[in-house]
Amino acid sequence: MSEPDYMIVGGGIVGAAIAYGLARSGERVALLDEGDVAFRAARGNFGNVWVQGKGATCPAYADLTRGAANDWADFAEDLAAETGIDLHFRRPGAAYICFSPEDLAKRVAVLEQSNAEARIKSVFEALDLADLRQRLPDIGPQVAGATFCPDDGTANPLLLLRALIKAAKDLGARYLPHHGVTSVARDGDGYAAETTAGTVRAGRLVLAAGLGNAHLAPMVGLDGPVRPVRGQIMVTEKVRPFLACGTNFIRQTLEGGCIFGESVEEVGLDDGTSLPVMRDTAQKAVAAFPLLRDVRVVRAWGALRIMTPDGVPVYQASPDGSAFVVCVHSGVTLAPFHARGFVDSLRSGSLPADRFSAFSPERFHVQTV
Ligand SMILES: Cc1cc2nc3c(=O)[nH]c(=O)nc-3n(C[C@H](O)[C@H](O)[C@H](O)COP(=O)(O)OP(=O)(O)OC[C@H]3O[C@@H](n4cnc5c(N)ncnc54)[C@H](O)[C@@H]3O)c2cc1C
Repeated sequence: MSEPDYMIVGGGIVGAAIAYGLARSGERVALLDEGDVAFRAARGNFGNVWVQGKGATCPAYADLTRGAANDWADFAEDLAAETGIDLHFRRPGAAYICFSPEDLAKRVAVLEQSNAEARIKSVFEALDLADLRQRLPDIGPQVAGATFCPDDGTANPLLLLRALIKAAKDLGARYLPHHGVTSVARDGDGYAAETTAGTVRAGRLVLAAGLGNAHLAPMVGLDGPVRPVRGQIMVTEKVRPFLACGTNFIRQTLEGGCIFGESVEEVGLDDGTSLPVMRDTAQKAVAAFPLLRDVRVVRAWGALRIMTPDGVPVYQASPDGSAFVVCVHSGVTLAPFHARGFVDSLRSGSLPADRFSAFSPERFHVQTV
């Protein structure tokens, strides 16, 4: 391949979705990834396509999330047709389980707020325990109720990553694993990246390196305001089907195993696990669904979220529209957007203010007088 039009740094869910979208639009793409030494949220996440409550303080983020979730079925169908990989996408809705009436009332307020100014509305119901039991007969007596939103869904994130990379490669993208980028800089009309496997050049640059954006983005005058936030996740042996919809901290895969975890820890670049967090996670799962008491956990891991200071994504373009940076912590949910709408903006060389101003990192540039 001659020099590619685009070099994407980071082969996680975000970079792979962008590579797929660009390759599908006929662009020549090189997708560079560091390899197994890296922190990779794409390989450790929960797999929710989650709408409920997203963007409560940022209507543009609520709209972005809802638009992407609404596109998920069609996106999964396209990828399955192109790669033969079923992403296990389902949209049965999800219940956000609350253990006290106070928590349920707070949750309702959050969802009302996230609907107030959003352009795309998302309906929800507040369910008491009796109502919730109609949907989830195995719910435990300690639960007070839940908010239920039909717009939420789930997918298998590992299959998603595999399908995106396969589709991008089939469309001609060059996938370069074991190409850790040590530096990146302007090079004539384009960009040059020094990597652990030599220099790679391209006309345009997209930084989708997750936590790696923090040090790469400033090298080309962009911002990568991200920090790691750890989540610990546990997986059980297979159980009879009992969860007809998703929830905020436990879901059942199509194969029958349960995945649970919603911990949030500020522990720096440590993606390990710890007994106290796993114990609390397991206790909460059993309180919600007592049938899990005797079910064995077969796997557990920690993974690092890519968190901006306010939790809202960052999308930024260089002034001449030749370099871009993307930092998000809902890469599964937003995958259709990254492969489609975002790619259209990239190719046009700008991020239109009406859609992207809420996601500019300039919101963090506080001026002191
Ligand atoms: C515990 C947990 C649960 C989550 N649950 C959900 C969920 O339910 N739903 C949802 O939508 N999202 C969820 N997420 C978030 C989701 O996983 C991330 O948004 C998504 O993985 C981010 O993708 P990414 O491509 O930006 O980053 P990553 O997946 O971290 O990928 C970054 C890639 O960049 C590469 N890289 C880094 N530095 C360099 C470098 N210098 N040179 C070359 N390559 C480099 C790495 O090798 C890596 O492959 C969860 C995350 C965690 C941690």
